[in-house]
Amino acid sequence: MNSKFPNLLKPLDLGFTSLRNRVLMGSMHTGLEEVKNGYTRMAAYFEARAKGGVGLIVTGGISPNFRGWVAPFSSKLTSKRTARKHRLVTNAVHKYDTKICMQILHSGRYGYHPFNVSASSIKSPISKFKTKALSESAIQSTINDFVRCSKLAKYAGYDGVEIMGSEGYLINQFIVKRTNRRNDKWGGDYINRIKFPLEIVKRIRLEVGKEFIIIFRLSMLDLVEGGSSWDEVVHLAKELEKTGVNIINTGIGWHESRIPTIATMVPRAAFSWVTKRMMGEVNIPLITTNRINTPEIAEKILSDGHADMVSMARPFLADPEFVNKAMSNKPEEINTCIGCNQACLDHAFKGKVASCLVNPLACHETEIILNNTLKIKSIVVVGGGPAGLSYATTAAQRGHKVTLIEKSNSIGGQFNMAKKIPGKEEFYETLRYYQVMLKKYKVDVKLNTLFEPVMADKYDNVILATGIIPRKPKIKGIDHPKVVSYIDVLKNKVNVGSSVALIGAGGIGFDVAEYLSHKGESTSISTSSFMKEWGVDMSFLARAGIEGMKPSLSKTDRKIYLLQRKNGKVGAGLGKTTGWIHRFTLRNKDVKMINNVTYTKIDDKGLHFTRNQKEVILEVDHIVICAGQLSNNSIFESCKLVNLNTEIIGGAFHASELDAKKAIDQAVRSAAKV
Ligand code: NAP
Ligand code: SF4
Repeated sequence: MNSKFPNLLKPLDLGFTSLRNRVLMGSMHTGLEEVKNGYTRMAAYFEARAKGGVGLIVTGGISPNFRGWVAPFSSKLTSKRTARKHRLVTNAVHKYDTKICMQILHSGRYGYHPFNVSASSIKSPISKFKTKALSESAIQSTINDFVRCSKLAKYAGYDGVEIMGSEGYLINQFIVKRTNRRNDKWGGDYINRIKFPLEIVKRIRLEVGKEFIIIFRLSMLDLVEGGSSWDEVVHLAKELEKTGVNIINTGIGWHESRIPTIATMVPRAAFSWVTKRMMGEVNIPLITTNRINTPEIAEKILSDGHADMVSMARPFLADPEFVNKAMSNKPEEINTCIGCNQACLDHAFKGKVASCLVNPLACHETEIILNNTLKIKSIVVVGGGPAGLSYATTAAQRGHKVTLIEKSNSIGGQFNMAKKIPGKEEFYETLRYYQVMLKKYKVDVKLNTLFEPVMADKYDNVILATGIIPRKPKIKGIDHPKVVSYIDVLKNKVNVGSSVALIGAGGIGFDVAEYLSHKGESTSISTSSFMKEWGVDMSFLARAGIEGMKPSLSKTDRKIYLLQRKNGKVGAGLGKTTGWIHRFTLRNKDVKMINNVTYTKIDDKGLHFTRNQKEVILEVDHIVICAGQLSNNSIFESCKLVNLNTEIIGGAFHASELDAKKAIDQAVRSAAKV
């Protein structure tokens, strides 16, 4: 069979060892390292990906000492006792032809604890903890700790280590002037500042021998003021090669950068041009990364000569079988990562175990098990939104006979609106995935069909995934013709005027504001437009890619007001890793965000409210209601009377603060047990 992905699936020869393909499952902190039975769970998580065909895995970051912790008591490797626990992971992965490297990550000033250290005592803008400059002797002992950690990784059975030198962590803090103001031999000019990483690599190589993979994650584009210039990055890459690094991985941006680098609105493979610039400068393989989520994109990167290997982290949460599906020329069966961060990074940053919005099994492999059913049931799922689709496809995959009834003419529910938001085009992929799964597992889909409770007795089980109805707030004049719901807007039922007030500033209020304020095509589909909008210099004449540059987000032609009753920051409830992007974008487009309002009435003039005892009238053409949801569960009781095995899931079960993550998680867990 001719492969659609010949470059991606080509082995990579490293001399003393080889990788079965060009796919790296990139490092991702999952939080499993720190929980009860963490190593068993980690082993199951990584084993599923190794079984799924990936060539090389890099674990989440493990600190070489307690000062390098990401957060108090996060994972570190300082003893043989702990190393032996890691063998559960390495043995599980080595059942397959997959290599695994352990990432050594010292957080430096990003460490969310009082013991953190850095090159200089310059506090990180994204942490409440101050930092202490390492003394010269502490630098030596930190290097020793990196070396000890590498030796222990080898003892634990890893095929190598990845030294985390990017994303603004300790090594990166030594490399750049922004954070290194030392005047000893570890600071001052660039040659001194890069001594720290080079010494670490040199000493590790000496101790672990030649036949042990050393990957260095090099910050090629810092995206912060005072970061490295391109010439400096190239110089360091060449020195790293000389010092014994086998592979260089690309790091893009620091955690404190104010440029989105992996969120869903970032175009696919938006940063592979950075790795491409490095191709030919060194003779060791280069890995590229960031927002690569399909085998087609990965293949194109390699065939265009942008890199030797492709790293994907989140796509392996979304689908452990990514590589096998590509290998069998069935890319349409891949459950695509949509870049939402909702269950992976947002969890990790909140200290919760990561998972995946589109695949709740991720990191929960020992908890949610999809066995083939021993007793085939006839199941009807009512509602083709995220909850209904997940339930139907999961139950059918397990061997049940499933009918999916949807009253509209298409599947997808709220996802059909989400996909229309500029920057959220990835939702099309989730819908494509469900379409393919419905067909593969022979779910009988009945569109344009209204389910009546009397039909409930025809099935063994009835699953109501009937979703939500938008909340209609009790405001005088709420039925005025100026008032429309977000569904009217996103389904294009109304031509929204040039001035709009949005009641409610949750996820949907922000989405509608983005939709109404957008001009032209989505920048998510054009790397050059995206870089221009965010002020990134693709010619790399600007230091760190951004110095002297300014974002140029186009202003909206409409007057848009985004309102909430709460007194706090507007949009405070948005995702931890993406909320700032939405707030920043809308602010720059001149969308007015107003908190602490009390709505009084709506009339021909517009929306009336009081704020700080003052009466305000927004003379707008339309008022869009984005005030949350109520469960659409009206048929539950009558269905239950007909069929005791009636269950209600998703928004129909619990609408308050519901999102697709919770809906899909609940649906899959329930379908795993039926
Ligand atoms: P939501 O996040 O709960 O927001 C509802 C908004 O309506 C709040 O701003 C609330 O603020 C306001 N509100 C609530 N009751 C009101 C009332 N009676 N009168 C006036 N205003 C009222 O709900 P949503 O925006 O509909 O989103 C639904 C779910 O989908 C959420 O869980 C959301 O996180 C998720 N979602 C996420 C994203 C994302 O980008 N991550 C995008 C879309 C949706 P006040 O009470 O302060 O006025
Ligand atoms: Fe991708 Fe979202 Fe899943 Fe994270 S939660 S892996 S971003 S789909």
